[in-house]
Amino acid sequence: MRRLGLFGGTFDPVHLGHVVPAVRALETFRFERLVFVPAFNPPHKLGDPLTPFPHRFAMLALATQPYDRFLVSAAEAERAGPTYTFDTVRSFRERFAAEQLYFLMGSDSFSQIETWHRWEELVDLVHLVVLHRDTVWGEALEARVPRPLHGRMRRVEPFQAVPDPEPGSTWIYLLEHEAFPVSATQLRERLRLGRSIHELVPPEVHRYIVKHHLYDQVAGPGDGS
Ligand code: ATP
Repeated sequence: MRRLGLFGGTFDPVHLGHVVPAVRALETFRFERLVFVPAFNPPHKLGDPLTPFPHRFAMLALATQPYDRFLVSAAEAERAGPTYTFDTVRSFRERFAAEQLYFLMGSDSFSQIETWHRWEELVDLVHLVVLHRDTVWGEALEARVPRPLHGRMRRVEPFQAVPDPEPGSTWIYLLEHEAFPVSATQLRERLRLGRSIHELVPPEVHRYIVKHHLYDQVAGPGDGS
């Protein structure tokens, strides 16, 4: 059965902390396609001004361009109101009924799974691939995850072949890749302070940010722009 990966987030901006773990997941799970799904109007970030969707989408298109199996979807821009991961995953489930579906999320997101809209149904609908964020991992992560999910959690080493799950079961895979300690919040803050972020985003994304003056950035000397 073919495997389809989905990776949701605000991607404001996309950075190497998204790209490198996504490549590890691709190498490990051998996804036929890994689709990045930028959130249009995420409920947990209502109130925080997001960079307009077309810019976030364009940066993802640039970041994923070198990878044949990476795609970007505008699925969330096509729906009105707050966009919930559950609805997005359900619509992919319906459209790609013949594929095994995996949803990628960082361990910080997974540690808050109980706050997600219809989370109990979500974990029955899709396999989760939890990416290693240094802020919460190992015992600290387990302590925050609802008990009923513990029995579904499986640790996976990068590049290890992951067998097909038994039909009807959904798993939560904790991918033990190297942590890549960078967040979009940190990057936006650095740009606001006039510091460069060029080593932490793909070069094409950096050029785009400079060209469009995103994040009130002030290009510093020697930032490669
Ligand atoms: P922000 O700082 O604005 O909250 P972010 O860097 O966490 O942004 P998001 O777009 O919110 O990025 O993240 C999308 C998904 O990618 C989330 O599930 C998040 O946990 C995960 N993620 C983000 N950064 C990393 C990282 N460095 N390593 C692993 N996963 C990450």
